[in-house]
Amino acid sequence: TLDVVTEVARRLGADRVTTDPETLLKNSSDWSRMSPVLEEKVPRGRYVADAVVRPRTPEEVADVLALAHAADVPVTPRGSGTGNYGQATPFDGGIVLDLRRLDRIEVLEGEGVLAGAGALLSKIDRAARAAGRDIWVFPSTKASTVGGFVAGGSAGTGTIEHGTTTDGFVRALTVAPMDGSGRLLHLRGEDALPYVHAYGVTGIVVEVEVATEPAREWTAVYAAFDSWAAMAHVHRSLLDLPVLPRLASGDEPALVPSLPASVDLDPGRFSLRVIAEASTVAEVERRVADAGGDVVAVLDDYASCDRLSGMSYNHPVLFLQRAHPDRTWFHMETGGEIYWTDPDAVRAVYPGDVHLHLELMGRGPLAMVVADYHDEAGVLAGMEAMETLGMTVHSPHQWYVDRNVDLAVRTARETDPKGLLNPGKLVPDHVVPTRVNVGVR
Ligand code: FAD
Repeated sequence: TLDVVTEVARRLGADRVTTDPETLLKNSSDWSRMSPVLEEKVPRGRYVADAVVRPRTPEEVADVLALAHAADVPVTPRGSGTGNYGQATPFDGGIVLDLRRLDRIEVLEGEGVLAGAGALLSKIDRAARAAGRDIWVFPSTKASTVGGFVAGGSAGTGTIEHGTTTDGFVRALTVAPMDGSGRLLHLRGEDALPYVHAYGVTGIVVEVEVATEPAREWTAVYAAFDSWAAMAHVHRSLLDLPVLPRLASGDEPALVPSLPASVDLDPGRFSLRVIAEASTVAEVERRVADAGGDVVAVLDDYASCDRLSGMSYNHPVLFLQRAHPDRTWFHMETGGEIYWTDPDAVRAVYPGDVHLHLELMGRGPLAMVVADYHDEAGVLAGMEAMETLGMTVHSPHQWYVDRNVDLAVRTARETDPKGLLNPGKLVPDHVVPTRVNVGVR
């Protein structure tokens, strides 16, 4: 590894390579600490890179890969490091490729934005909005990179209408393979799919074209209810609004006090927060009132909508964990109509305190179940029980590529024949030691 690092420093410049121990440590872990299971299995400091390299251009990425390939040095790509599953951990050391300097953003004529893999979603969204466009989807971690979102994330604000990152959001990719060729692959449409949500095991994404649509006027609506049933009734009804909302997040009272809302949320009530298109706001307000709820605030500035995004998906779980550092919570991402109809059946799956956070997808509700952590066996038993309730379960407690695995395996055979890209994240022959995710997400 040392020889490769020295050669990379010679070609790219010494300032683009670091072996400083503190920097290595920082760049070798992600947000897997949200999972008590992963905290034990992939603790910070157990797997550490030998060097962090910071390329500035796609060609430099291709160059680094060619050198690493020749010397059999593993390379693990990294964006902002906000992934939840330990999937940016360099299990075999080697080089961590920090891609944040590939941050070019170009709003294209027509329907896309072209961005370097390291461009932050917050900046891409800002550039798109300034040009009168909305990007289809972004995660609640808006400070993450577009490359990291495409390679490691899946859903977020915009998902109700546009689905996940595999549903057309990625129009085209430029990818650097680890095949010793030093070339770049340009892939459009379906051809890009083997690189989406593949944790970088099939290639390093260096440039992304994401889908946009004409910008809409979005409004943040906060509502409060006295019961889950009333909140769930309105949540469900949002799917038939003439313009679908961009986000609809619900929380039961235990999760509400730790939310960093800009308005005074009633901590004792169920909270529903909607990013609604301006022309539908009156209808949302009417439905809230009809269900016996109260509209707490209607804020029509974009920053308020961004704040709602920052309180969606895994964020309420994180805020709860921060508010109760003395308690160990674990969470599970699950889907099923049962959230609207019988939440107590879900709660009954785990012993102790169980809290529910709700999101809306085009095909129904998605939720984060937050419960007391005892041990991994309890988590696995709970997942089994949820499946028997007809729910889809996504475990945030393992680091393997878990979607389109066949495609990733087939592609990686061509693009990374030596298995040097992000080692340990693609399980050959699909044999998994503990438990793989199940169902559709
Ligand atoms: P990283 O964490 O740096 O990388 C993610 C994965 O992609 C790693 O496997 C890494 O090796 C690989 N990778 C990174 N860059 C590249 C590249 N250029 N080419 C190839 N592979 C690459 N996710 C969602 O989908 N929706 C959410 O709403 C959401 N909310 C979250 C809330 C919290 C509190 C946390 C902690 C996480 C959340 N996540 C969510 C997960 C994560 O934040 C996102 O998926 C994020 O977009 C990842 O981007 P990143 O730049 O941080 O990537």
